[in-house]
Amino acid sequence: MPLPDGPPAPEQLLKDIAVARPMTMADYMAAANAHYYATRDPLGAAGDFTTAPEISQMFGELVGIWIADLWSRAGCPPFRYVELGPGRGTLAADALRAASRFGCVPVGVDLVETSPTLRAAQSARLPQAEHRDEVDALPDDAPLVIVANEFFDALPVHQYVKTADGWRERMVERRDGRLAPRAGEIPADDAIPAVLRDRPEGTIVETTPVSAAIMQRCAFRIARQGGAMLAIDYGYAGPAAGDTLQAVKAHKYVDPFVDPGEADLTAHVDFTTLADAARPAGVTISRLATQGDWLRRLGIDARLKSLTAAAPDRAAELESQRDRLVEPGEMGELFKLIAITAPGWPAPAGFPGDPA
Ligand code: SAH
Repeated sequence: MPLPDGPPAPEQLLKDIAVARPMTMADYMAAANAHYYATRDPLGAAGDFTTAPEISQMFGELVGIWIADLWSRAGCPPFRYVELGPGRGTLAADALRAASRFGCVPVGVDLVETSPTLRAAQSARLPQAEHRDEVDALPDDAPLVIVANEFFDALPVHQYVKTADGWRERMVERRDGRLAPRAGEIPADDAIPAVLRDRPEGTIVETTPVSAAIMQRCAFRIARQGGAMLAIDYGYAGPAAGDTLQAVKAHKYVDPFVDPGEADLTAHVDFTTLADAARPAGVTISRLATQGDWLRRLGIDARLKSLTAAAPDRAAELESQRDRLVEPGEMGELFKLIAITAPGWPAPAGFPGDPA
């Protein structure tokens, strides 16, 4: 039986599991990640995983240059820098420093973050920042330039599995003393995109209503207030089938159903769903860019050269950072970007072709 009122608190999650109460994959992921992020700083070599801004300052700097370029072509309006799930604040710090070299300085820095531990780390890094509980709490007095890196991948996904009796939502339940996924009882064919419904038994499909709702709120704000959004994540252009849920602990894949709340749970992001959620707001939606192409178009190789010239002893280290961000076998192809812009705002740099 699914839980009636959204995701349970972490303590409730553990209790629910103890009494063998099945919950949706989305409720499980939301509760486990709420506990996980609230109780630690998971980033970096000593933590569980490393994100692009933690690999190299070049990443955040190029995001800052992207913002400064768009802002200057928009006529240099006052704007707020907004970041969703800013981690340690590294991306924001690098981006704002780089943008300020072009005279591009926001009137406010607004961080949407739920974790008290990471809020403290962000405030130390960005003393001018204000924290917001959710997108709806963002001020409405200026255009918003919203950045989200590895944010959507941490939000809950529902999973559905094709059984002999049709599609069923995948539930998490306790069996023989262990947690495991199992097909639920209620027919769920209507939740499956029509193009995937006839897939063979055993096929798994994910949906992301929470991500879509957040994207849509950002898009409506941008349409109303002006501004743009840059979403960066590992993912694909859906609809597609497949179980992409994964758990990472100390830089290794672990079983997502062992020790809930102690490993980072993520799923690949369906960028088509994000774009479809933004579209009703009337914003302009870019085509997808791979991280490698986007960083090259924004000038990562020139930035590498100037950093290397300033610190020749770090040449090998800087080059390996660049490779991790750009090369297809590393983050260059799996990670993708999409941008949305307000009506009347210029086309964002780094994206291929005409808007989607
Ligand atoms: N963007 C950072 C961190 C990525 S980790 C980087 O690139 O390094 C995911 C981030 O999203 C963390 O800051 C986490 O606390 C935050 N987060 C996860 N779920 C959230 C939610 N529902 N609302 C707001 N922030 C959330």
